[in-house]
Amino acid sequence: MPLDVLKQVQDEFLDFNGTGMSIVEISHRSTAYQDMHDDTIYMLRKLLQIPEQYDIIFMQGGGSLQFVMHAANFLHHSGGYINTGVWSDKAMKAASFYGKVYEVASSKEDHFTYIPKPESFHVEEGTDYVYMTSNNTIHGTEWHHFPSFDVPLFCDMSSDFLSRPVDVTNFDFIYAGIQKNVGPAGAVIGIIKDSLLQKARTKLPLMLQYKTYVEHDSTYNTPPVFNIYFVNKVCHWLDDHGGLAAMEDTNKKKAAIVYGAIDESNGFYSGHAQRDSRSRMNVTFNLPTEELEKQFITEAAGQHIIGIKGHRSLGGCRASIYNAVTSEGCQKLADFMKAFHQKH
Ligand code: PMP
Repeated sequence: MPLDVLKQVQDEFLDFNGTGMSIVEISHRSTAYQDMHDDTIYMLRKLLQIPEQYDIIFMQGGGSLQFVMHAANFLHHSGGYINTGVWSDKAMKAASFYGKVYEVASSKEDHFTYIPKPESFHVEEGTDYVYMTSNNTIHGTEWHHFPSFDVPLFCDMSSDFLSRPVDVTNFDFIYAGIQKNVGPAGAVIGIIKDSLLQKARTKLPLMLQYKTYVEHDSTYNTPPVFNIYFVNKVCHWLDDHGGLAAMEDTNKKKAAIVYGAIDESNGFYSGHAQRDSRSRMNVTFNLPTEELEKQFITEAAGQHIIGIKGHRSLGGCRASIYNAVTSEGCQKLADFMKAFHQKH
C-alpha cells in the first residue's frame, strides 16, 4: 500500500470525516458511509472510464468465491477457459460444479511460461463465456493485449487491477480481489455489464447472485466498510498521481529495472516467463541451484528486501512490485541482484 495512504488512514482512524467515530464504528446505513461509498464508485468509474452500462459492485469471499460465483450465475451450457496458471485452473475446476468447462487455450504444457496467442484459441459452439486471468501472480505472466470473442469475456484482474488503463468495454465481467494494489484483503470489486446480468441464473441463493449486489448497491448486507474506505483512499492517491496511464508508465519502468538485472546476468538469473509475456507486477526467476536461491532470499532479507520467495507451488524467487513499490525499491533489488551475482 502507498505509504501516504497508510498515513492518511492512520490520521483519520479515530475520527472519520468529522463524525467523531472511526470508520470501523460508523453504520453502513449512515450518510457519512454512503457518501464515501458513492465517491468510491465515482472514483473507480473515473479512473477506468467505466461506461454507464456497467455496474460496479463490492463483494466478499475473495477471488476464490468468484471462481464459483461467475459460473453459478452464467454457466448454463459450457464455459471456455484460457488456462494460464494456478488461478485460472482453480476457476475452471470450481466452475465445473455448474456445467461443462473446457480449455480455449492453455500454456500448461510449457509450465505456464507464456500467454497463449489468439491463433491457438478454440471456442466451442454454445459457449456461454470465455474466462481469462489478466496477470498470473504465481507464474509471472501478464496479458499485454487483450483478446476479444463473439461470446462474453470474463476476466480475473485480481493481481494487476488499477496498475494500468484497461478498456472495460472489451469485457462483460471483470472482478478483482483488492489485496494486491488496492487495499487490505477482504473485498472484491466487480464490474459487470447490464446486458450480461440479464442472462444470469435466478435459481440461486440471493448472496450468490450478482443481481443482488447490483440492485442493492452492494449493501444488501453489511459491506466490507473498511476495505471500501481503503479503496477510496487508493483511488484518490492514484488520481492525484496522474491516474492509470501514469501508473502504467511507472510500472513499466520499474519492471524494466528488475528484468534488466535478470537479462544482464548471463543466465545466472533465469526468468520464468517468456519475454513477450512478462508480468509487470510479479517478476519470477530462478538461480542456478536451490541452495543459492535460499541464500539469496536470506541475504536479501538482511537488506530489508522482503517476500521474494517464490510461491510454494513453483519455488524459485518472485519479486512482487505492485503499484506501491517504488522505482527506488526496484533499483535496490536490482543492485542487490548484481552484487549477489558477482559474489557467487
Ligand atoms: N486470482 C488471482 C489472480 C490471484 O492472485 C489470487 C490470489 N492471490 C486469487 C485469484 C485468489 O484470491 P483469494 O485468495 O482472495 O481467494
